[in-house]
Amino acid sequence: MAEELFPAFLKLDGRRCLVAGAGRVAESKIESLVRCGASVRVVAPEATEAVREAARAGKIIWEQRRFEQSDLADVFLVVAATSSPELHQEIFEQAQRAGILCNAVDEPERCDFYYPAVVRRGPLQIAVSTSGHAPLLAQQIRQELEEHFGTDYGPWTEEIGRARNEMLASGVRPEERLARLRELCSARSLNEFRERHQSETGAGDGCGGKVYFLGAGPGDPELLTRKAWKILRSAGVVLHDALVPAEIVRLAPPQALICDAGKRCGEKSITQEEIHERLIAHARAGRTVVRLQGGDPLVFGRAGEEMAALRAAGVEFEIVPGVTAASAAAAAAQISLTHRQLASKLIFLSAHRCAGEFVADWKSLVTHDATYAIYMPGGNYERIARELLAAGLDGSTPCVIVSQASTPQQLILRLDLASLADAPQPPAPALLLVGEVTRAEAVEVAAAWGAGGQALANQVLG
Ligand code: SAH
Repeated sequence: MAEELFPAFLKLDGRRCLVAGAGRVAESKIESLVRCGASVRVVAPEATEAVREAARAGKIIWEQRRFEQSDLADVFLVVAATSSPELHQEIFEQAQRAGILCNAVDEPERCDFYYPAVVRRGPLQIAVSTSGHAPLLAQQIRQELEEHFGTDYGPWTEEIGRARNEMLASGVRPEERLARLRELCSARSLNEFRERHQSETGAGDGCGGKVYFLGAGPGDPELLTRKAWKILRSAGVVLHDALVPAEIVRLAPPQALICDAGKRCGEKSITQEEIHERLIAHARAGRTVVRLQGGDPLVFGRAGEEMAALRAAGVEFEIVPGVTAASAAAAAAQISLTHRQLASKLIFLSAHRCAGEFVADWKSLVTHDATYAIYMPGGNYERIARELLAAGLDGSTPCVIVSQASTPQQLILRLDLASLADAPQPPAPALLLVGEVTRAEAVEVAAAWGAGGQALANQVLG
């Protein structure tokens, strides 16, 4: 016998369907048939209150008696949902002879078809079957699908349907129609739909929402904090920077509105003021708003300005720190950023030089027992080297460039200031660490010191 089931979605509108039995189990089968417009007749000596009510309301016909052979006349399909296997066998055999589709509840051998586990989103239905092997697995998969395909898929599907009908009616050329439908079904279009829909309905829980500044860490999703993970999983809106990997953004619930604040949001590019406006508007609509930033949100980001805007608007916010790039770069190159003998200071610098932004006075910074973590070096290694040398550091001062720290593409380049000017340009994002701790031998010094320390500790403990 063939194992494979033929999947199909039936149109039951106006079709005569019979249900034998009117207990709890039958109730749900009756309901699902009525929902599809079937003309339902129920035969059962007893019925639950819900079935009686449906009969009183004229939604179904209930005949208070046992099943009879003549009940199958002109029936399209029959569901046997009584407590009697003998009766189910009788109904199944008669249905077989008459060529009527039969489903005896929980008895696969007396079924022509199974009820799949279904995700219902308006006109969109996703049905799961394990061909009767593992109904529980089908339910679990349904739950996962339900999480992924949120309730907004229903109205979105309807909207696509309307657009398609309009195109068919107005005679748009098939190739063009296909191209436009492809666009309408894209993730970008879903996001736009959500944006429109949310602003119409003001979805959210009604009370004031909150903005979370979440540190997404340097790239490796494993480096997210548990707290950041948890909040991201419950986000209603996510505004993220370009640096945050897609893998982390995807942790947000599927129905969350995702906005790439790094470059573009939907079609329009987004300004800093627009970011403020969006954070405030979404929070005021009662949503959980996540401002997701690479590394730590309080290091070389715009959190200062954004917090000020939220304070001024009276919007509540919370900050969840993340692993900053300097920590990730140091970890990658196995460098201790501070060291009891080599570095008592750790200086975070930005090499970025936009109008008015982070212009470092290198001269005042240079001391001999410091480690410099230089963010946003861009392609400016020659200028950085020149300024550090001019400020008094020695050409032999070691440094390390770490590109894409914590990701599979991570690259580590060990140099000194004299050779930094000619350094190859590793891909962004990259971070430059400068100072004695980055000297290859410093790793050994640290190891020796660690071993000595351990011996000392043993002595003390011994
Ligand atoms: N808030 C971020 C920094 C934002 S500024 C943090 O705390 O890390 C952007 C700069 O961070 C980049 O130009 C680069 O210098 C650095 N950066 C971010 N992620 C990095 C990574 N994975 N590897 C190396 N540098 C990184």
